[in-house]
Amino acid sequence: MTAKTTDHATLLQSTQLVISQALHRLGFGDDMTDLLREPLRTLTVRIPVRMDNGKVKVFTGYRAQHNDAVGPTKGGVRFHPDVSEEEVKALSIWMSLKCGIADLPYGGGKGGVICDPRKMSFGELERLSRGYVRAISQFVGPTKDIPAPDVMTNSQIMAWMVDEYSRIREFDSPGFITGKPLVLGGSHGRETATAQGVVMMIYEALKVKSIPLKDARVIVQGFGNAGSYLAKFMYEAGAKVVGISDVNGALYDPNGLDIPDLLDRRDSFGTVTTMFKNTIPNEDLLIQPCDILVPAAIENQITEDNAGQIQAQIIVEAANGPTTIEATRIVTERGILLVPDVLASAGGVIVSYFEWVQNNQGYYWSEEEVMQKLQTLMTRGFHKVFELHQLKQVDMRLAAYMVGVRKMAEASRYRGWV
Ligand code: GLU
Repeated sequence: MTAKTTDHATLLQSTQLVISQALHRLGFGDDMTDLLREPLRTLTVRIPVRMDNGKVKVFTGYRAQHNDAVGPTKGGVRFHPDVSEEEVKALSIWMSLKCGIADLPYGGGKGGVICDPRKMSFGELERLSRGYVRAISQFVGPTKDIPAPDVMTNSQIMAWMVDEYSRIREFDSPGFITGKPLVLGGSHGRETATAQGVVMMIYEALKVKSIPLKDARVIVQGFGNAGSYLAKFMYEAGAKVVGISDVNGALYDPNGLDIPDLLDRRDSFGTVTTMFKNTIPNEDLLIQPCDILVPAAIENQITEDNAGQIQAQIIVEAANGPTTIEATRIVTERGILLVPDVLASAGGVIVSYFEWVQNNQGYYWSEEEVMQKLQTLMTRGFHKVFELHQLKQVDMRLAAYMVGVRKMAEASRYRGWV
């Protein structure tokens, strides 16, 4: 077993552990844990793609549907070399939790293809995207399972996918996928939704901690879609963004970084630190002085090895799974307010839901309307989780899981599944 698959197996096991704790706390029995600890369906597909050199390469892809008692399943598709079945399964469970916390009429789903888009041409990516849709087309659909962008997939890829699906079905099906370009029925605000949602969570956390936003010091780990927009929004709001990072390294300046300049200079995969000499290693960034730490990169970044040295008062998880269970316990005991991933990064799927609603009704909203509705759902989610955390004296992650899983468990019971 490679290190990567072991990590994903651990990720799935930790998710299952917290799911069972949450269900137990809510008074459900072992039968409910048994139902919700694994996706109801997981499909593995093999996708032959003609590469530019004329040869065919066969890619492996997955789609997991965690639970559809509440409604169709919903969640992104990632294109990444490290995708595994366990990872897709864990991510589908997290999507269920996000939808539950935001009270969306969905269960969670997730897809992934093992590939490296950075090493593929535009044409190869298009053929892979269309091939993936052909492979899963019987399994998904606007009232069944609705994909969306995730790590290293974007609105262009969604456009190819919706086109392929509409051709197969022989009618225009914009509600099949979200995160589409505006001209194909995308929603205003979808591109920045995850970052906007994280900003809203930072505001709520600052209020709880009575820290003023002006000059609050922020470290953002990761400069992809969520991380770069987030750094921009925090900078524009008057906070001091003292640290950022990408896969190659990190920049830290206690006086604040020039974020507009960094945004101008980064490439399309979010790389910018290679242009600087004074970088620090990525792992050092997390333990630098700051008020708010936002892991917006990948899984397993805050672990028992560094949780004791984190200097932030607030951690807001913009990435999926950046903090381990053990590290969650350590930072909670140290009085750091942790806003967990399943709450903090729900902005993306919330605006995806708005996109789907607009597609279904054929009537489109302004950006202000979308943002105002996003604000309502995000802040309501925060208060439900924070209040349960205080009332039941459980950490913020367990509180979020309890809020996130309750409706799905009740719906499963009403349907007679358990
Ligand atoms: N991939 C995003 C997530 O992990 C968005 C999913 C969606 O919009 O359905 O939350």
